[in-house]
Amino acid sequence: MGKLIIIGGGIQGCTLAVHLLKMKKIKKKDLMIMDKNDKPLQNWTRCTETIAMPFLRSPSVHHLDVNPFSLEKFLKKEDYNKGHFYGYYDRPSLEMFNHHCQSLIDEVELMDCWQQSSVNGLERNGDGWIVHTDKGDSYNSEKVVLAIGLSEHPFWPEWAHKAKVKKAKVHHVFQKDFPDFDELIPPVTVVGGGITAAHLTLKLMNLFPGEVTMIYRRELQVHSFDSDPGWQGPMYMDNFQKNKDYQSRRKMIFDARHKGSITKELYLRLKKAEREGRIKLVKDEVTSFSVDTNTLHCQSGLTQNTGTIILATGFHSAPPGIEWLKNTINQERLHCAECGYPIVSPATLEWGEELFVMGPLAELEIGPVARNIAGARRAAARILQAM
Ligand SMILES: Cc1cc2nc3c(=O)[nH]c(=O)nc-3n(C[C@H](O)[C@H](O)[C@H](O)COP(=O)(O)OP(=O)(O)OC[C@H]3O[C@@H](n4cnc5c(N)ncnc54)[C@H](O)[C@@H]3O)c2cc1C
Repeated sequence: MGKLIIIGGGIQGCTLAVHLLKMKKIKKKDLMIMDKNDKPLQNWTRCTETIAMPFLRSPSVHHLDVNPFSLEKFLKKEDYNKGHFYGYYDRPSLEMFNHHCQSLIDEVELMDCWQQSSVNGLERNGDGWIVHTDKGDSYNSEKVVLAIGLSEHPFWPEWAHKAKVKKAKVHHVFQKDFPDFDELIPPVTVVGGGITAAHLTLKLMNLFPGEVTMIYRRELQVHSFDSDPGWQGPMYMDNFQKNKDYQSRRKMIFDARHKGSITKELYLRLKKAEREGRIKLVKDEVTSFSVDTNTLHCQSGLTQNTGTIILATGFHSAPPGIEWLKNTINQERLHCAECGYPIVSPATLEWGEELFVMGPLAELEIGPVARNIAGARRAAARILQAM
C-alpha cells in the first residue's frame, strides 16, 4: 500500500507535492499524484494561455515553492529582466511563473509520482483507502488528499445553454474543446465583466479590430485582488475562524470575493480601446439569443447582431467531484455544510480518517483565498502537519 495519493495535479495538488517532497515529509516512491491529464498544471496552462494573460493577478510571493522569496530569486538566477514583475505587488509574468513551476516539477522529479487516471470512486478499506478509476483499476493508499479544482466546470447561463442546443456559435472560454481563434466568426461578443472577460476582449480586439463587444451586467468593478489582502492573514481570518456557523462562513466568503472584478490597468486598457473604437463596452444583461437571426437580446431591450458568443461567466458553484464522492460521503458519514462543501478539521483539513482536502473543497476552513495560489500554500502548510 502506498502512503499518499493526491487526486488532482493542478496548482493545488502540485503545491502540496512540492512542499511534501522538498520538506522530506514523504519519499517519492510513497507518493502518487492521480490526474486526468498527462502532465501537471494542464488546466492552469490551458485557461491562462487561452485568454493570453500576461501577468498573474497575485503577488510574487504566491507560487508553488516553499520559500516565499523563491520566485524573486528565480528572476535573478534565470536572468529575467525586472519587467517580469509588474506593479507595486511584483505580480509575476505568466511566462516566468510557468518557467518557475516547471523548474520545481523537474527539481522534485514530480513526473515519477504521476499517474494519469480519472478517479471515479473512493472507498475506505481497513486502515487505508482504495481509489477507483474509470478504467476499472484501483490503488491503495494510507492517506488521500482531494485537490480537485473547478476549472473543468465552466458555468453556462440558461439562455446560452439553449442557444448551444440549437447549434448556435456559442462557446465558454474555458471549455476544453474551445475552437481555434482563427475559426471564430466576427463580430464577436464576450459575455462577462471580470478579469477573464477583460483579457479575452483585449486579445480578440487584435484579431478582429472594431468587431468585438464586451457585455457585462454591472458597472466594471476595479480591485487589485479578487479579495481584500486582509483575508491573507489574521485581520479577517481570525473572525472567520471563530465563527462556527458554516452558513455564515459561506456568506462571509461570498461577500469577501470581488467576483467579476478587474485590475486598474485592465480597466484603463479597456477604456482606451473603447475610446479608439476598437471595442464596444456595453453594460447590460443578456437574456436570450435568436439563432435564426444571430441576435442577442438584452434586458434593456438592446439587440446585438453577433457571429460568435464567448462566455466568460466563470465556474459552477457546486463542490467539485461531488458526483463521484457521493457514495464516500454516505458510507463514511462525512460532514458537509448546507452549501454541500466539506466541514473539515481546522488544524489539518481532515474530512474523514486520513482523508484531506484543499482548494475549493477546503474553503469553509481556508476562507475566500482557498481557490488561489495563496490558498494552496496555506492548505499545504496545514496538511503537512498530519504527514
Ligand atoms: C484564467 C485564470 C487566472 C488565474 N489567475 C490567478 C492568479 O493570478 N493568482 C491566483 O492565486 N489564482 C489565480 N487563478 C485561480 C486559481 O489559482 C487557478 O484556477 C488554479 O488553476 C486552480 O488550481 P486547482 O488545482 O484548484 O484546479 P485545477 O487547475 O482544475 O486542477 C485540478 C486537477 O484535478 C484534476 N481532476 C479533477 N477531477 C479529477 C478526477 N476525478 N480524477 C483525476 N483527476 C481529476 C484535473 O484534471 C486537474 O488537473 C486563476 C484562475 C484562472 C481561471
